[in-house]
Amino acid sequence: MQNNWDLKAHLLKEIKAYGGWVSAHNHLDKAYLIKAEDLRLADISLQEKWDLIDDLKQSQTVDDIYDRMAFGIEQQIAQGVTALCTFIDVDPLIQDKSMLAAERVRERYKSQIKLLFANQTVKGVLEPQAREWFDKGAEFVDIIGGLPGKDLGHEAEHLDVLLSTAKKYGKMVHVHVDQFNTPKEQETALLVQKTIEHQMQGKVVGVHGISIAAQPQTVRQKLYQDMVKAGVMMIACPSAWIDHRRREDLVPSHNSVTPVDEMIPAGVTVAIGPDNIADYYKPFTDGDMWTELRFLLEACHYYDLQELVKIATTNGRKVLGLI
Ligand SMILES: [Zn+2]
Repeated sequence: MQNNWDLKAHLLKEIKAYGGWVSAHNHLDKAYLIKAEDLRLADISLQEKWDLIDDLKQSQTVDDIYDRMAFGIEQQIAQGVTALCTFIDVDPLIQDKSMLAAERVRERYKSQIKLLFANQTVKGVLEPQAREWFDKGAEFVDIIGGLPGKDLGHEAEHLDVLLSTAKKYGKMVHVHVDQFNTPKEQETALLVQKTIEHQMQGKVVGVHGISIAAQPQTVRQKLYQDMVKAGVMMIACPSAWIDHRRREDLVPSHNSVTPVDEMIPAGVTVAIGPDNIADYYKPFTDGDMWTELRFLLEACHYYDLQELVKIATTNGRKVLGLI
């Protein structure tokens, strides 16, 4: 029997032909920290988790972080990932430990995979001590990372710090935006506005963009047009938010995933990554890129094979600034 029905095999072959998977968003310095006895901690809110893992982070040595990052990278290489970007925490608690581990993995795997690092600003960028570490991280990383939700109420100032720093160093910016699947969030729109203000068109990438799908259609379509004009791209991490909790808000019905079925036809560049792997945020995520692509195509009912291959490959190179 011919295997024309095997669309997974077809996609995997095409992805290989297009230079291999690009795993555009990870947090490998936190990966593989979960244990069965700690699963109850996975149940608390994201905002509580940002602080909860502080104790755990402080107890980690550079060797611990290196081992887990190296294991994660090997898992991705084994799947045919050829380029990977991981956020690493750089803040007053972890200080330079993740950066030191990152330096070592970059050296160790440089002949096997293109590795890029972005700084996770889990303590924000406005409080003076957090800002000091953000500045140190910004010098080290390839891509300036951000999390405006950590400077709640001051998201615009948070973005001003990221974008002005990125401009100074000539680096790209990756920002976690619109994560909570609520129309109350409009962080992608703010990111677009700030991109234009700082004249950083083509250098800025949102991560997630889940809440966009909770907006009315006219708002969504206007946002896509604005993203295209400002060259703002997006990284989808499909399994990361598919577990979004049931709520009573009335919003346009949708799955809790980056709306690629609308973004790609509108001309927005969308890439893909696993985000958190086997940690307190996502205890069961294993970093399997096919699982992520499958979640995306199923959750968005998106069957354009050629575009799916681009999401997995060339779009990833674009958001990482490699092409
Ligand atoms: Zn992330």
